[in-house]
Amino acid sequence: MNMRPVYRSSGNLGRGPAVMLPLSLLLGAVTGLVYGYSCFYCIAWVGSQKISMLLATFIFLGLGLGVYKLAILSKCRSLFLVGLTGFLSGSAALYVAWSVFTSVLLDSYGTPVPVHTVMSNPAALWDFVQEVGEKGWYTTKKSYQSGPGEAEKGFILWAAWTMEALIATLAPAILSVIMWRGKVFCEACGYWCADAATVVRQASSDPGTEARLKTGDLQALAGLPLPKPSGSMYKVDQTLCKACGNTGTYKISKITYGTGKKDDVKTEHLTPLYLLDADSAAALGALLGPGATPPPPAPGVPPVPPAPPAV
Ligand SMILES: [Zn+2]
Repeated sequence: MNMRPVYRSSGNLGRGPAVMLPLSLLLGAVTGLVYGYSCFYCIAWVGSQKISMLLATFIFLGLGLGVYKLAILSKCRSLFLVGLTGFLSGSAALYVAWSVFTSVLLDSYGTPVPVHTVMSNPAALWDFVQEVGEKGWYTTKKSYQSGPGEAEKGFILWAAWTMEALIATLAPAILSVIMWRGKVFCEACGYWCADAATVVRQASSDPGTEARLKTGDLQALAGLPLPKPSGSMYKVDQTLCKACGNTGTYKISKITYGTGKKDDVKTEHLTPLYLLDADSAAALGALLGPGATPPPPAPGVPPVPPAPPAV
């Protein structure tokens, strides 16, 4: 029976409500400005709404990365608040983007309305969006010879807008949560733990070994050799609180290289984040040696100069 303790975040909000949330909303607004302008010109130029999916994916994953960084900065340990912040900042970005788009489009029709005026009038914005959906606003480009094609409108536009809204709101929420979930916080010291060591060993074909590893039993790695180049391997990632050296976690993954014709790498997480107890710390200590990556030197410590060559 597996009784090993699994790391769970405390749910403490930290400075999330005071720092992460407002700064993420601000970042969302800036993201919306960038996305609104770039979308308008890219779609009009390419002649297809599809380009906005590509732009949205890049830009809103970037927003998610920003939310994650702010979650770490504000020491927020609440998964719910991180996810909610990602969702709200994406929603804010989408609203600003639509306001920018509407303002630029109205301007191109010869009726300039400033962005802030559009933003402060959501009902009018919604009416305008429905009108654009009905009539379309750009024409497809069939080819250089035949010139402009027909206006894309109706279902195609609404399907693309729905997709775009899902990307805008879910991408920042999901990415920030996924990245944040890999971080471990030492409640005693008030710091995030840092990556401490990585151990790799050749994967075993013995099903018993893998069953033991899945329970977090690091002793199961003891007799295994170092992995061959591009062979399957087990990987242990350890984190440690640099302040106290007591709080830490480890997780075990299995990495399989190029199983098929394509040079693909498959990573399978065998365990959750287990808290480092005395037994696992001792087992990890024994494994650390050949095949292990030493922890990076602490900042401020000068590198050791290489020894002069023997004469
Ligand atoms: Zn600590």
